Amino acid sequence: MHRAAEVLESNKEKYAKMITEEMGKVYNSSLGEITKCAWVCRYYADNAEAFLAPEYIETDARSSYVSFQPMGIVLAVMPWNFPFWQVFRFAAPALMAGNVGILKHASNVPGCALFIEEVFKEAGFPEYAFKSLIISSRQVASVIENPRVKAVTLTGSEPAGASVASTAGMKIKKSVLELGGSDPYIILEDADLSLAVQQCTFSRLLNAGQSCIGAKRFLVMDSIYDAFLSLFKQSMENGRYGDPMTDVTMGPLARHDLRDEVHQQVLASIEAGAECILGGEIPDSPGAFYPATILAGVTKNMPAYHEEIFGPVATVIKVHSVEEAIFIANDTEFGLGAAIFSSNIEEAERIARDEIFAGSCFVNQFVKSDPRLPFGGIGISGYGRELSHYGIKEFVNIKTVYVK
Ligand code: NAP
Repeated sequence: MHRAAEVLESNKEKYAKMITEEMGKVYNSSLGEITKCAWVCRYYADNAEAFLAPEYIETDARSSYVSFQPMGIVLAVMPWNFPFWQVFRFAAPALMAGNVGILKHASNVPGCALFIEEVFKEAGFPEYAFKSLIISSRQVASVIENPRVKAVTLTGSEPAGASVASTAGMKIKKSVLELGGSDPYIILEDADLSLAVQQCTFSRLLNAGQSCIGAKRFLVMDSIYDAFLSLFKQSMENGRYGDPMTDVTMGPLARHDLRDEVHQQVLASIEAGAECILGGEIPDSPGAFYPATILAGVTKNMPAYHEEIFGPVATVIKVHSVEEAIFIANDTEFGLGAAIFSSNIEEAERIARDEIFAGSCFVNQFVKSDPRLPFGGIGISGYGRELSHYGIKEFVNIKTVYVK
């Protein structure tokens, strides 16, 4: 796995270019994605043995302990938005635990799928330790049903997750689901506004808004609402789109149909009364570009309130109390990430820990994944965890050994 990290680094430009060409990510971010993949490989190469060391438990036995054993072949169904990172954060722990990985990647990133297979081959893994299957989503059920496949993980949309999990359920196989999010960012009265604006803008425009843990709903206290909105608008305006091989904030969205879906959500929200204070129009030029967009005055009857918008569209809601902010933050079926901005760290931490329903809640920092910290959601954002010692224990048999 250390060698896999080296292969990634020594072919960084080639892999990053493939990401950018296939799904439109800004080239610099694609380079960053490859670096992060090398990090997760090294993290599990260094820590897997300790994470999976036998756990001795004192009982009336001569010896009793938990032994972590590989499950066998694990299928990963993966999305296009971070086409290397999503796969490596599954593959590094799964392979270090002794499993075999097979990948059904999103159909718009086959080049990435084949390069990832190449990484493991060049790193010296046995030939079939990791294999990319170039198949359609209709063929996934038969792979899950195959008796040699022991478990499945899917990162993607809710319908895809429901379909994969029901097939796995019918065959009594383990599944992990990492699905969508509609992450709320609460901006309290005493927040450092320039920090909040910078972090909110970065998180909303990252990957042209196509991130499950992108900041999506901004719940802003009434006393600072106008000031926040004016600074946020200026900052979002600076988010320029263009050729992703050049120095721009955003490339195009990954596909035209996905761009059109984002636009429909924006139009339906405006029709229901939202105020579009920035963007909101499809550019009159080729490519699936979409401008940085802000919808203000969003209320419960609008798609922008309930649905995940997978593009650079910010939903801003004015709140009149901390309780109302918490209520709206939790008024969603999703539960992936959340963030709170406040200079009262103690109170913000209490809200983050005790009040917000989400897989992770950050204070004064946009939500990000880190190999050392568990990642995953609750509600329709999915179940199971990736990364950290929790992630490597998803695809092992937690076996009890008892010797009298
Ligand atoms: P998607 O359409 O669900 O596709 C994800 C993967 O599932 C692709 O490989 C796709 O294959 C496959 N797939 C689709 N329908 C399927 C079915 N019925 N049975 C089996 N496989 C199926 O999602 P996406 O548009 O690529 O990604 C966007 C979604 O992923 C967003 O909702 C985002 O929030 C979520 N996401 C979540 C996380 C997380 O960690 N929680 C991370 C990133 C993205 P085809 O391409 O061939 O259709």
